[in-house]
Amino acid sequence: MRLLMDCGGGAMHRMAVIGVRWQDITHVALSHFHADHISDLALLISAWRYGDLPPRSAPLEIIGPLGTATLLGALAGAFGDWVLEPGYPLVIREIEPDGMVDLPGDVRLRARAVPHTDESVAYSVEHDGRRLVYTGDTAFDAELGRWARGCDVLLAECSLPADMAVPAHLTPEECGALAALAEPSHLVLTHFYPPVERVDIAGIVAQRFRGRVTLANDGWTTEL
Ligand SMILES: [Zn+2]
Ligand SMILES: [Zn+2]
Repeated sequence: MRLLMDCGGGAMHRMAVIGVRWQDITHVALSHFHADHISDLALLISAWRYGDLPPRSAPLEIIGPLGTATLLGALAGAFGDWVLEPGYPLVIREIEPDGMVDLPGDVRLRARAVPHTDESVAYSVEHDGRRLVYTGDTAFDAELGRWARGCDVLLAECSLPADMAVPAHLTPEECGALAALAEPSHLVLTHFYPPVERVDIAGIVAQRFRGRVTLANDGWTTEL
């Protein structure tokens, strides 16, 4: 079982460049339907057929909020029926906003609705007493912090600096506050819009959360 969480623009190539075995992915869990979280999905479905030899025969399961089947249908409408019938079994499983699915390998995936878009969910991935929580995109939500309490890894979005804050995303200050509630062993921040990289993200977070913090890096540097 290998789970990919979201599949935004460039995900496919970055996995290839950094040596992640994208060929071995068995499940994809989508947090919501914004383009930066799904735009490589059709590419990935195609790559499993043509980007590797022999072509994939193993099933692929796409898990996502209510509306995921409609989304895949729309992608098939745009690109062709191969999106839904790529030559290997493709299963779509919609998860209720506070639902749960058990995956192979004794992995439990739980969803929790978050304030971003109507369908948006955060995910908790649990295995053998360990737990990763991925916020997806979200506004600050104290209940989400409590839901994540005690997780090993909290993977949180961190979109914009405080002076550009919008209701639907987190600032570094809010990431720190979320982590203070969740008390993860390790806070990992990702989903940086270029302006947030102008501020001292780690320093701001450290004012609220003393634990281990890592800032995600996609290998590209942004000159501002
Ligand atoms: Zn979004
Ligand atoms: Zn996003």
